[in-house]
Amino acid sequence: MKHVFGPVSSKRLGQSLGVDLLPMKSCTWNCIYCQLGKTRKLITRREEFFPRREILDEIRSALDEKGKIDWITFVGSGETMLYEGIGWLIAEVKKLTAIPVAVITNGSLFYLPEVRREVLGADAVLPSLNAGSEELHRLIGRPASGLGFRRHVEGLSALRKEYKGKLWVEVMLLGGINDSDEALQDIASALREIDPDMVHIVLPTRPAPEQLVHLPSGERIDRAIAIFSDVATVVHPSKGVMDLSAATDLLQAVTAIVSRHPVQQRELQKAVENCFPGDEAKASETVGALLESGMFLIVDHNGEPYWVMNTQKD
Ligand code: SF4
Repeated sequence: MKHVFGPVSSKRLGQSLGVDLLPMKSCTWNCIYCQLGKTRKLITRREEFFPRREILDEIRSALDEKGKIDWITFVGSGETMLYEGIGWLIAEVKKLTAIPVAVITNGSLFYLPEVRREVLGADAVLPSLNAGSEELHRLIGRPASGLGFRRHVEGLSALRKEYKGKLWVEVMLLGGINDSDEALQDIASALREIDPDMVHIVLPTRPAPEQLVHLPSGERIDRAIAIFSDVATVVHPSKGVMDLSAATDLLQAVTAIVSRHPVQQRELQKAVENCFPGDEAKASETVGALLESGMFLIVDHNGEPYWVMNTQKD
């Protein structure tokens, strides 16, 4: 499948069927922590990048074929709301199934009324807010011109007023960058203005394009939880478990996931072992065969081996 992947397991969204609406990589930001690598060209013009009916047909097939799905999650190889017509897709998915729909977005385009209108039918919207000042917003997100901090916060506040579903704001906590008391208090002020239902703290646990990205200390995470708890319920999600048990073609399934984000080797090993219960030799042989396909490379991140796509492969 070209647009649909998973389901991928996560604490926040359970078994989540991913729907990728964008060509790699189409984004309004160029975050220093982006697991998709650098944004070569920032874009802000919205388009129907792929025919909406083609995407809907894939979702329909996935709903027939895949096992348990808790959420259908629109997410992009970049900024999801750049896809013009996502509102139509959400409405059509709602006609197909009662499974709730989530939209993961950086939120940069919600200052536009027509973009806010497109998510009104979703059950949850998860926008990003990684800074409480213009300076840090620019340092972390490196946004396209015209997408400054105030516009971002005002867009999210406007969405909150119009949108009746769950608004879960994600804060990527970066060690030494936005985890000082002052930076955390600034983020809390912006969160107060937005008034989300929940705040999700996320961490840069995957390889990033910039060397300056580090995990925050446990003490800083606790401090962030304490400061943000004044505004809303704070969730610090533990990592979900990758589930490949419903895959009919493992190479295709692993490619679909690794092409969207690097995967920790031991997470992948565990997911493959779960496909062959009690047969460790078969699991190791399968992991070896996946690697021998030449589709993947292993890179080191904070001492942990991760699988990434081999971009040199034809
Ligand atoms: S908004 Fe998301 S996709 Fe875009 S650069 Fe940032 S992390 Fe990457």
